[in-house]
Amino acid sequence: MLESFESSGLGWFWATDASGKLTYLSDSAFEQLSWDKDSVLGAPIVDLFLPDEAQGAQGKLAVQRPLTFVIGSHNAITNLTVRLADTPGEAVWWEIAGQPKFDGRGKFVGYRGSARDATESRAQSQEALRLAQFDPVTGLCNRVRMHDRLTEALAGFRNAKRSCSVILLGLDRFRQVNETLGRAAGDELLRQVAARLKSIAGYAAEIARQGDNEFMLMLPDIDDRGELGETAERILQLVTQPYSAHGTRAIIGASIGIATAPYDGVDAGELIKAADLAQSVARSSIAHYRFYSSELRDDARRRQVIEEELHDAIARKQLVMHYQPIVDATTHRVKCFEALMRWPHPDRGDISPGLFIPIAEETGLIVELGNWALEQVCMQALEWPGDIRVAVNVSAIQFMDEGFVDLVDHALRKSGIQPSRIELEITESVFMADQVKTQEIFGKLKSLGVRLALDDFGTGYSSLSYLRHAPFDKIKIDQSFVRGSSTRDKHNAAIISSVVSLASALGMETVAEGVETKEELELVTGHGASHLQGRLFSLAVSQEDLLAKFESGDLTFEPKGPSRSRADRRTEYRRVGLVHGDHRYSVVLRNLSKSGALVDGLLEVPVGTDVVLDLGGGQLAVATVRRSNDSRQGLEFETELISDGADGLCTRHRVSPYLIEAAGRPLASLPDDPYAALQSSGVPDLVQFAPKAFTEVDIKHRRVNAA
Ligand code: C2E
Ligand code: CA
Ligand code: CA
Repeated sequence: MLESFESSGLGWFWATDASGKLTYLSDSAFEQLSWDKDSVLGAPIVDLFLPDEAQGAQGKLAVQRPLTFVIGSHNAITNLTVRLADTPGEAVWWEIAGQPKFDGRGKFVGYRGSARDATESRAQSQEALRLAQFDPVTGLCNRVRMHDRLTEALAGFRNAKRSCSVILLGLDRFRQVNETLGRAAGDELLRQVAARLKSIAGYAAEIARQGDNEFMLMLPDIDDRGELGETAERILQLVTQPYSAHGTRAIIGASIGIATAPYDGVDAGELIKAADLAQSVARSSIAHYRFYSSELRDDARRRQVIEEELHDAIARKQLVMHYQPIVDATTHRVKCFEALMRWPHPDRGDISPGLFIPIAEETGLIVELGNWALEQVCMQALEWPGDIRVAVNVSAIQFMDEGFVDLVDHALRKSGIQPSRIELEITESVFMADQVKTQEIFGKLKSLGVRLALDDFGTGYSSLSYLRHAPFDKIKIDQSFVRGSSTRDKHNAAIISSVVSLASALGMETVAEGVETKEELELVTGHGASHLQGRLFSLAVSQEDLLAKFESGDLTFEPKGPSRSRADRRTEYRRVGLVHGDHRYSVVLRNLSKSGALVDGLLEVPVGTDVVLDLGGGQLAVATVRRSNDSRQGLEFETELISDGADGLCTRHRVSPYLIEAAGRPLASLPDDPYAALQSSGVPDLVQFAPKAFTEVDIKHRRVNAA
């Protein structure tokens, strides 16, 4: 039986002596060898095969202990795949097995074993391995292989204290390309993305197709944020260039998240997760790339808590609508109430809509929330006397949602309210969406009979030309133009008067939002605003309070408040920047004094955190968080602000201490005159970069990245 097995060529037998020299090999095996029988017998068995280190990269599945090692230690050989040395032509692989033999006294006397040709089966398993590790569309490695490569690299780097970064690139609008141009064009586009990535990354980086519309680059030994940022920018620039796929042009957007080991994660899973979070933040903000940081993670966690609780808040009926009067500018009689959502949280106190509305928008919860608000408002407005209107805020996401028009229709019918009493406040961001669709929704809403108001006018993307085509009944001039219009900025007054004349030319009403002082009142009425809203008349009040007021038959709200804003403490409602670490957050400035400010919009920032408040126009104030209450933080400035002579507080100088440092003069604190200090440092040109560099301030390291 053994003889017929040997001669069949299905397999061979071999034996060695104690020193590892071959003493036997089946005759049929010699057909594959280029040596004759005499030179093989008596030679070390390991000489038949390529040396261990030359066996070649065999992929992860084939990782095995080297033959010399196994034989040297007299261990059993189990299905070892080895490549024959000196074979003419194609590589020939054998799979060998063998058992060590010992004599009666336990002394090793050699091996007895078998072997078979494994060339073909190896080729098949290699192909399977390749398929399991590579993306068939782009030929790049896939997420499985990337995970393995990253795991290997990180394990190797850990002791050597080497760093390794990953860049996660997500393509926006790729799904649309797939849907509109077809799958073949989508695949073609992916191949072109892959080619562009290769051209940037070169050989140093491993590139993978990480998901449907995601790519990942692994960059060993790179942790410099300047370098990583530049790479990210180059990638974004190249990837967002137009593509030509199957005869059509396609443009896609992209966003990038960056994470670096060991700082942001020590294993592959952690690092990829970190990059993923940074990428999702980059996608939803204007920045198109983002570095991971623990703040991002904490922020994401807190937002998640709010998100979860917001779900319950709807079900538990924790939300209520309050109403702020919008009065006629001459009679001060209320014409309309703006419905503003309130969330009195049982444990956390009042949560500002400035905080939870953006979260609801991101998660899509806004549709449910907005629908609830609409129904609630329609019912409650029915309890008011006469034909007072009610304005409901509608988020752009809710506005573009498929069922929106039907929901409005439903709320109108269910309550039976007169449609002309309902006003929908929409912001300019809806103009960013598909114009045709927007016009269509406008048309449907108008035919339901509701009124439309353009909210926060002047803060967004509007071009005046939009106004001509959009059927608005009312324009609301954003509070940032109204506030301080009498003192701080002459441009504001000019903007108000031109918006008013434009609106009246188009037959629209105007509302000046956020009127707080008598002086502002005079100014906005002087410029012809037809309606007014703001603290001077009343902030939002509950339905009960409203009904109580109506009870007395009083429908006017008389201005009550300071004639001009107090210099020591101004009530503000405007968006400013808060810089911490590498991030610039958008927060609402609630009030501002010489020594500090109250901001709203970030959750649970720890007391003691150092931040920089970016008041706009190049004005920065270094500050420390002194009080922190849910989404509101009391900040104390490092240096007192000064009065600009007209009560509009400003920072002492419009130059950042960091720039001085960038100019080569590290400073522990702000000098009396940083501007002069900067100029005498011999690099006055830096001043010109100031506005851009301000947003790049890195507080922790006190350095300016961009500069
Ligand atoms: P908005 O639509 O611009 O609403 C006006 C905001 O300014 C309200 O803040 C209001 O309380 C505040 N305000 C009005 N007059 C004055 C004033 O004289 N001084 C000051 N300092 N503030 C004034 P609130 O209620 O915190 O709402 C913030 C934002 O949240 C709103 O800005 C709106 O965008 C959003 N929001 C509120 N309720 C809803 C809602 O039901 N649905 C949607 N989609 N968004 C809502
Ligand atoms: Ca509004
Ligand atoms: Ca507004």
